[in-house]
Amino acid sequence: TSFAHFGFDEQLMHQIRKSEYTQPTPIQCQGVPIALGGRDMIGIAKTGSGKTAAFIWPMLVHIMDQKELEQGEGPIAVIVCPTRELCQQIHSECKRFGKVYGLRSVAVYGGGSMWEQAKALQEGAEIVVCTPGRLIDHVKKKATSLQRVTYLVFDEADRMFDMGFEYQVRSIASHVRPDRQTLLFSATFRKKIEKLARDILVDPIRVVQ
Ligand code: AMP
Repeated sequence: TSFAHFGFDEQLMHQIRKSEYTQPTPIQCQGVPIALGGRDMIGIAKTGSGKTAAFIWPMLVHIMDQKELEQGEGPIAVIVCPTRELCQQIHSECKRFGKVYGLRSVAVYGGGSMWEQAKALQEGAEIVVCTPGRLIDHVKKKATSLQRVTYLVFDEADRMFDMGFEYQVRSIASHVRPDRQTLLFSATFRKKIEKLARDILVDPIRVVQ
């Protein structure tokens, strides 16, 4: 597979070329067409596999389609991950690729200023990258709303479980409309992750790095 097979438009292709990626990684070859097709997906992949781009590129296509259908406020895509560092990394990739369409991303994570994050959320963004507890705090304070979210990603789900975020992960899934597309990434696929997948994904396709 080459990047041309994904059918991305020239703007996104230009940005991918600028990144000097020569060819898609295995998780991108398998995952991108599934995600572009609107299906739920389980990705078993580690850091370094290129998994971030595998969910960001289809996300951008989804957002551009969705923006035309539905006006309104709040993010269209939410990416939930375990740590501040990962949040910042994913956010920077969202900005790098999202800027070709003028899309805005906000990162909200534990340890950062609630006030500054709330202000950024209220200025508006199509993409929110967050740690679980902090997103819930902002939703409770009405700094943002999940009502427009139709693309939901849980990254490094096994690590989120290890850090004790299972309740928060499930709570976020239950507060996003059921007609969403959900992607779940995890380095391992143990029993608890399998159970989570059964509970929050609909007829998912499993992809292994
Ligand atoms: P990730 O597994 O998403 O954390 O990505 C690991 C690193 O690989 C990041 O620095 C990405 O910018 C880079 N990367 C993503 N996709 C590709 C690709 N197709 N070719 C080369 N590098 C890539």
